[in-house]
Amino acid sequence: MHEWVEKLLDLQDKDLRIAKLAEQIATEPADRAKVKSMLKGAETALGDAKTQLQEQEKALKTLEINADTIREKMRDFQSKSTFIKNNEEYRAAMTQIDTCKKQIEDIEDDQLLVMEEIERGRTLLALRTKEFKAAESRVAEMITDLDTRLKNCGAQIKKLEAIRSEAIKGVEPAIARRYERLIKKPNRGGPSRRVLVPILEDVCDRCHMNVIAQIRMNARKGMVASCENCGAMLYWES
Ligand SMILES: [Zn+2]
Repeated sequence: MHEWVEKLLDLQDKDLRIAKLAEQIATEPADRAKVKSMLKGAETALGDAKTQLQEQEKALKTLEINADTIREKMRDFQSKSTFIKNNEEYRAAMTQIDTCKKQIEDIEDDQLLVMEEIERGRTLLALRTKEFKAAESRVAEMITDLDTRLKNCGAQIKKLEAIRSEAIKGVEPAIARRYERLIKKPNRGGPSRRVLVPILEDVCDRCHMNVIAQIRMNARKGMVASCENCGAMLYWES
């Protein structure tokens, strides 16, 4: 392999690594948002369980108040009935008292049902609290990992950039300029794509189109050749 190829491949290797790290940094905000949304789900579930329990407790309270009101009404009928002399009126008062008793029984049945619901609601709330706490510590751990990754990527890029700026000094200026121009092209090269590729079985290893004989021959001689199709710099692998 010709010397310029070796040097440029080494430079490209650094650039590809830098691009990969930069990509990781670029996706970091999305990753962070995704991690945080994991907590949101657990938080919503916990909130729902709390609200549900509060509503059930409120319903029980309402039933208690209703039962008390009817009990009071019943006591009122009972005390009044002792003063009634008229049979018809007395029977009417007794009917009222029976109706009150029946209403109180119905409410007591409802109270039992709601109390069972509250019991289930408390179990659910305990479970959701546990799940939320677990999610919270998991998310905290993941955020720490993301912070570490971000820091490491940044440090690694700095290190690689220092190495690359030294490495490019060793490349012949004309070749270096050509390479730099290509790597900055967003479509053809772009930071994450190779701009220096071998000719493998007579085709460009980037776009996989045939390379004409003249260019193959130039590459074989160690000249800097370009793919006519994609513009990549070509070399002969030997
Ligand atoms: Zn090509």
